[in-house]
Amino acid sequence: MIRTRFAPSPTGSLHIGGARTCLFNWLFARSEKGKFILRIEDTDKARSKKEFLDEILNSLKWLGFDWDEIYYQSQRFPLCLDLAKKLLAEKKAYEAEDGSGAIILKMPRKTVQIDDLIHGKIQFDTQTIKDQVLIKSDGTPTYNFACVVDDADLKISHVIRGDDHISNTPKQVIIYEALGFDLPLFAHIPMILSGQGGRLSKRTGATAVSEYRNMGFLPEATVNYLSLLGWSAGNNQEIISKEEMIKKFSIKDVNNTAATFNLEKFRWINNYYLKNMESRRFLDIAIPLFKQKGYIKEDSFDRNWFLNLIELFKGRISTLSELIEWSGFFFVEEVKLIPEAKVKLKENNLTKEFGILKEKFALLKEFDHAAVEKAFRDTIEQLNIKSKVLIHPLRAAVTGSLIGPGIFEVIALLGKEKVCERLDKAIEFIKTT
Ligand code: GLU
Repeated sequence: MIRTRFAPSPTGSLHIGGARTCLFNWLFARSEKGKFILRIEDTDKARSKKEFLDEILNSLKWLGFDWDEIYYQSQRFPLCLDLAKKLLAEKKAYEAEDGSGAIILKMPRKTVQIDDLIHGKIQFDTQTIKDQVLIKSDGTPTYNFACVVDDADLKISHVIRGDDHISNTPKQVIIYEALGFDLPLFAHIPMILSGQGGRLSKRTGATAVSEYRNMGFLPEATVNYLSLLGWSAGNNQEIISKEEMIKKFSIKDVNNTAATFNLEKFRWINNYYLKNMESRRFLDIAIPLFKQKGYIKEDSFDRNWFLNLIELFKGRISTLSELIEWSGFFFVEEVKLIPEAKVKLKENNLTKEFGILKEKFALLKEFDHAAVEKAFRDTIEQLNIKSKVLIHPLRAAVTGSLIGPGIFEVIALLGKEKVCERLDKAIEFIKTT
């Protein structure tokens, strides 16, 4: 029976690298019809925090990783203590000479070899490894000891983890051997490097899954992107669902060289999922963000209006935060003109043209896309000007910017009153500045 585990320590948030380790464990278990186990490694009581635990669990759930069993290492200390005493009795371990009560494993001198599923054969010479503390003077087990005891007791068949743990592996193998337990298979996944080289760290950008969630990345896009960090379904396939990953995943296909985190690629994948998302689900996800920003104040708001807004922006944004940011001009009392928009308004000096357009808008009964566009076309015909002469300054006047979704749809959605008011303000701006 295949049994894998993800073993986060609740001493920090769930890191992108940790989430990827979790994904590969989960995928392997699911693809082999095995079990996926979550083990919280809260051995370090001083550094383990409830808030980190909650955040890790929330992030894992958000990503959609379901576990078949969950264990807390701190609840399993008695087992570690029993086994350490057994090693003492067998004289494979000894008590610290300082009388602190620590239990230490004698390191046999030998060569340890593992057949890593990703890196192949790795040999270690234990000559350079010190005797290993199993139980500390405070009675708690060390990471290496608790990890072996739990992996063996929980019958973990495959230990899949970051290759920053390779140096722990010979120590753990020696502990397995001392305890007379069978070894699991090991698969050490190469690290994730930042675009600037070096490991992905806070210095080079966000590292926590929750930070990406807050920026408006979707869980399916995040899982999709994580899968590309060190693995590939073949044929350069970049968009892949969890179901397809489960079908195609093989641990042997994981690269043995480091992967590089590429935010642009991640954004591109998020954009793909946003673009293809059903607008109603999109809105449900975006509502809390609109509320947070104060753009939705009450529970009774016009859902249809927001659905139209989402249709307008859907294909253009890479994250939900961009939706909130870019659609901001819909919600403000006064549009904030970017410098280029000010220049555009000033250099064209369209006070008369804006005036005529505004009058036509004001007369419209139906203020929809088609009617707005017709009013615009009538205006340029009447003035005998090219559409581009008026269209860019018009966008500047109503949105404050020079780029964005189709201007007639934007105007229709903004509504007559706001648009007329903004044209008046633009006229005033041109005249007075
Ligand atoms: N708690 C360890 C970590 O977070 C787990 C290491 C392992 O998977 O053995 O790095």
